[in-house]
Amino acid sequence: ISFADLGVSKELCEACEKLNFKHPTEIQKESIPWALEGRDIIGLAQTGSGKTAAFALPIIQKLWDSPKAEAFFACVMAPTRELAYQIAETFESLGSVIGVRCAVIVGGMDMMAQSIALSKRPHILVCTPGRLQDHLENTKGFSLRTLKYLVMDEADRLLDMDFGPKIDQILKAIPRERNTFLFSATMTTKVAKLQRASLSKPVKVEV
Ligand code: AMP
Repeated sequence: ISFADLGVSKELCEACEKLNFKHPTEIQKESIPWALEGRDIIGLAQTGSGKTAAFALPIIQKLWDSPKAEAFFACVMAPTRELAYQIAETFESLGSVIGVRCAVIVGGMDMMAQSIALSKRPHILVCTPGRLQDHLENTKGFSLRTLKYLVMDEADRLLDMDFGPKIDQILKAIPRERNTFLFSATMTTKVAKLQRASLSKPVKVEV
Protein backbone atom coordinates (compact mmCIF):
# COMPACT_ATOMS: atom_id res chain seq x y z
CA ILE A 1 0.00 0.00 0.00
CA SER A 2 1.27 3.47 -0.91
CA PHE A 3 0.64 7.00 0.35
CA ALA A 4 -1.32 7.62 -2.87
CA ASP A 5 -3.63 4.70 -1.96
CA LEU A 6 -4.44 6.51 1.29
CA GLY A 7 -5.59 9.58 -0.63
CA VAL A 8 -2.40 11.60 -0.26
CA SER A 9 -1.92 14.06 -3.13
CA LYS A 10 0.76 13.59 -5.77
CA GLU A 11 2.86 16.52 -4.52
CA LEU A 12 2.82 15.27 -0.95
CA CYS A 13 3.65 11.73 -2.07
CA GLU A 14 6.72 13.24 -3.69
CA ALA A 15 7.56 15.07 -0.47
CA CYS A 16 7.37 11.72 1.36
CA GLU A 17 9.67 10.14 -1.20
CA LYS A 18 12.18 12.93 -0.68
CA LEU A 19 12.22 12.12 3.03
CA ASN A 20 12.69 8.47 2.12
CA PHE A 21 9.23 7.48 3.42
CA LYS A 22 8.69 4.62 0.99
CA HIS A 23 5.57 3.11 2.53
CA PRO A 24 3.17 4.43 5.14
CA THR A 25 3.57 3.10 8.68
CA GLU A 26 0.65 1.36 10.48
CA ILE A 27 -0.54 4.50 12.24
CA GLN A 28 -0.36 6.43 8.96
CA LYS A 29 -2.35 3.74 7.13
CA GLU A 30 -5.04 3.77 9.77
CA SER A 31 -5.27 7.52 10.38
CA ILE A 32 -4.72 9.35 7.10
CA PRO A 33 -7.86 8.20 5.22
CA TRP A 34 -10.12 9.11 8.19
CA ALA A 35 -8.38 12.42 8.69
CA LEU A 36 -8.83 13.29 5.01
CA GLU A 37 -12.51 12.37 5.35
CA GLY A 38 -12.85 14.98 8.05
CA ARG A 39 -13.14 12.73 11.09
CA ASP A 40 -11.73 13.38 14.55
CA ILE A 41 -9.14 10.83 15.61
CA ILE A 42 -7.96 9.34 18.87
CA GLY A 43 -4.71 7.56 18.12
CA LEU A 44 -2.92 5.26 20.51
CA ALA A 45 0.64 5.19 19.26
CA GLN A 46 4.17 5.46 20.58
CA THR A 47 6.94 7.78 19.51
CA GLY A 48 8.71 6.22 16.56
CA SER A 49 5.46 4.96 15.01
CA GLY A 50 5.36 7.77 12.46
CA LYS A 51 2.48 9.53 14.23
CA THR A 52 3.78 13.01 13.38
CA ALA A 53 3.40 12.49 9.63
CA ALA A 54 0.07 10.73 10.33
CA PHE A 55 -1.39 14.09 11.40
CA ALA A 56 0.89 16.43 9.44
CA LEU A 57 0.13 15.00 5.98
CA PRO A 58 -3.67 15.38 6.14
CA ILE A 59 -3.37 18.87 7.66
CA ILE A 60 -0.95 20.03 4.94
CA GLN A 61 -3.15 18.52 2.24
CA LYS A 62 -6.26 20.28 3.59
CA LEU A 63 -4.34 23.52 3.90
CA TRP A 64 -3.41 23.18 0.27
CA ASP A 65 -7.00 22.43 -0.76
CA SER A 66 -8.27 25.53 1.02
CA PRO A 67 -8.76 28.23 -1.59
CA LYS A 68 -7.24 30.90 0.62
CA ALA A 69 -4.65 29.29 2.84
CA GLU A 70 -5.43 31.07 6.06
CA ALA A 71 -3.11 31.89 8.89
CA PHE A 72 -3.49 29.84 12.05
CA PHE A 73 -4.95 26.88 10.18
CA ALA A 74 -3.70 24.28 12.67
CA CYS A 75 -2.37 24.24 16.20
CA VAL A 76 -0.37 21.34 17.62
CA MET A 77 0.14 21.09 21.37
CA ALA A 78 3.07 19.05 22.62
CA PRO A 79 4.40 18.44 26.13
CA THR A 80 8.00 19.54 25.57
CA ARG A 81 10.02 22.08 23.66
CA GLU A 82 12.11 19.38 21.97
CA LEU A 83 9.05 17.57 20.68
CA ALA A 84 7.54 20.86 19.48
CA TYR A 85 10.63 21.64 17.39
CA GLN A 86 10.64 18.11 15.93
CA ILE A 87 6.99 18.41 14.94
CA ALA A 88 7.58 21.80 13.31
CA GLU A 89 10.48 20.32 11.37
CA THR A 90 8.23 17.57 10.00
CA PHE A 91 5.60 20.13 8.92
CA GLU A 92 8.27 22.25 7.26
CA SER A 93 9.92 19.43 5.38
CA LEU A 94 6.65 17.81 4.22
CA GLY A 95 5.07 21.19 3.53
CA SER A 96 7.95 22.91 1.78
CA VAL A 97 6.39 22.25 -1.65
CA ILE A 98 3.50 24.54 -0.75
CA GLY A 99 5.46 26.94 1.44
CA VAL A 100 3.92 26.00 4.76
CA ARG A 101 4.78 28.58 7.41
CA CYS A 102 5.28 27.30 10.96
CA ALA A 103 5.91 28.98 14.28
CA VAL A 104 7.07 27.29 17.47
CA ILE A 105 5.66 28.86 20.63
CA VAL A 106 7.21 27.25 23.70
CA GLY A 107 8.16 28.24 27.22
CA GLY A 108 11.63 29.49 28.07
CA MET A 109 11.96 31.50 24.86
CA ASP A 110 11.59 35.24 24.32
CA MET A 111 7.92 36.37 24.35
CA MET A 112 8.60 39.37 22.12
CA ALA A 113 10.35 37.30 19.44
CA GLN A 114 7.39 34.92 19.53
CA SER A 115 4.91 37.81 19.18
CA ILE A 116 6.77 38.90 16.06
CA ALA A 117 6.62 35.32 14.73
CA LEU A 118 2.86 35.31 15.39
CA SER A 119 2.42 38.63 13.58
CA LYS A 120 3.77 36.93 10.44
CA ARG A 121 0.61 34.81 10.48
CA PRO A 122 1.99 31.27 10.24
CA HIS A 123 -0.26 28.47 8.96
CA ILE A 124 0.82 26.04 11.65
CA LEU A 125 1.47 26.75 15.30
CA VAL A 126 3.36 24.20 17.33
CA CYS A 127 3.31 25.00 21.00
CA THR A 128 3.43 24.02 24.61
CA PRO A 129 0.10 24.86 26.28
CA GLY A 130 1.37 27.27 28.96
CA ARG A 131 3.06 29.62 26.53
CA LEU A 132 0.22 29.46 24.01
CA GLN A 133 -2.27 30.48 26.69
CA ASP A 134 0.07 33.29 27.72
CA HIS A 135 0.02 34.67 24.14
CA LEU A 136 -3.74 34.23 23.83
CA GLU A 137 -4.11 36.43 26.90
CA ASN A 138 -1.36 38.95 26.31
CA THR A 139 -0.44 39.28 22.64
CA LYS A 140 -2.53 41.96 20.94
CA GLY A 141 -4.26 40.93 17.75
CA PHE A 142 -3.52 37.22 18.19
CA SER A 143 -6.40 34.81 18.19
CA LEU A 144 -7.14 31.28 17.04
CA ARG A 145 -10.58 32.08 15.61
CA THR A 146 -9.61 30.76 12.15
CA LEU A 147 -8.32 27.43 13.48
CA LYS A 148 -9.45 24.36 11.51
CA TYR A 149 -7.31 21.67 13.17
CA LEU A 150 -6.22 21.03 16.72
CA VAL A 151 -3.71 18.30 17.53
CA MET A 152 -2.83 17.18 21.03
CA ASP A 153 0.29 15.07 20.80
CA GLU A 154 1.46 12.81 23.61
CA ALA A 155 -1.70 13.70 25.51
CA ASP A 156 -0.85 11.40 28.42
CA ARG A 157 2.36 13.36 28.99
CA LEU A 158 0.61 16.71 28.50
CA LEU A 159 -1.76 15.76 31.32
CA ASP A 160 0.94 14.25 33.55
CA MET A 161 2.69 17.59 33.33
CA ASP A 162 -0.47 19.28 34.63
CA PHE A 163 -1.21 21.13 31.42
CA GLY A 164 -4.88 20.10 31.83
CA PRO A 165 -6.18 23.47 33.10
CA LYS A 166 -4.28 25.37 30.37
CA ILE A 167 -5.66 23.04 27.73
CA ASP A 168 -9.19 23.64 29.05
CA GLN A 169 -8.67 27.39 28.69
CA ILE A 170 -7.27 27.00 25.18
CA LEU A 171 -10.24 24.84 24.15
CA LYS A 172 -12.52 27.75 25.11
CA ALA A 173 -10.57 30.08 22.80
CA ILE A 174 -10.79 27.99 19.63
CA PRO A 175 -13.72 27.27 17.33
CA ARG A 176 -15.93 24.27 18.10
CA GLU A 177 -16.21 23.77 14.37
CA ARG A 178 -12.82 22.13 13.78
CA ASN A 179 -11.17 18.75 13.55
CA THR A 180 -9.26 17.37 16.49
CA PHE A 181 -6.61 14.67 16.58
CA LEU A 182 -5.53 13.35 19.95
CA PHE A 183 -2.49 11.09 20.13
CA SER A 184 -1.36 9.31 23.26
CA ALA A 185 0.91 6.40 24.11
CA THR A 186 -1.51 5.22 26.79
CA MET A 187 -5.21 5.55 27.51
CA THR A 188 -5.59 6.88 31.03
CA THR A 189 -8.62 8.22 32.89
CA LYS A 190 -7.39 11.76 32.28
CA VAL A 191 -6.90 11.13 28.56
CA ALA A 192 -10.41 9.69 28.34
CA LYS A 193 -11.78 12.81 30.02
CA LEU A 194 -9.88 15.09 27.63
CA GLN A 195 -11.15 13.00 24.73
CA ARG A 196 -14.75 13.54 25.82
CA ALA A 197 -14.16 17.28 26.22
CA SER A 198 -12.46 17.87 22.90
CA LEU A 199 -13.32 15.26 20.26
CA SER A 200 -16.50 14.73 18.33
CA LYS A 201 -17.43 11.19 17.23
CA PRO A 202 -13.77 10.19 16.96
CA VAL A 203 -12.40 7.21 15.10
CA LYS A 204 -10.14 5.21 17.38
CA VAL A 205 -6.93 3.94 15.86
CA GLU A 206 -4.50 1.78 17.74
CA VAL A 207 -1.20 0.35 16.60
P1 AMP B 1 7.47 9.86 14.84
O1 AMP B 1 6.84 8.65 15.46
O2 AMP B 1 6.47 10.74 14.17
O3 AMP B 1 8.33 10.60 15.83
O4 AMP B 1 8.42 9.36 13.66
C1 AMP B 1 9.53 8.54 13.90
C2 AMP B 1 10.51 8.56 12.74
O5 AMP B 1 10.03 7.83 11.64
C3 AMP B 1 10.87 9.94 12.23
O6 AMP B 1 12.26 10.04 12.09
C4 AMP B 1 10.19 10.01 10.85
O7 AMP B 1 10.93 10.80 9.96
C5 AMP B 1 10.19 8.56 10.43
N1 AMP B 1 9.05 8.19 9.55
C6 AMP B 1 7.78 8.61 9.66
N2 AMP B 1 7.00 8.04 8.72
C7 AMP B 1 7.80 7.23 7.99
C8 AMP B 1 7.58 6.36 6.86
N3 AMP B 1 6.38 6.22 6.34
N4 AMP B 1 8.64 5.67 6.39
C9 AMP B 1 9.87 5.80 6.96
N5 AMP B 1 10.14 6.61 7.99
C10 AMP B 1 9.12 7.31 8.53
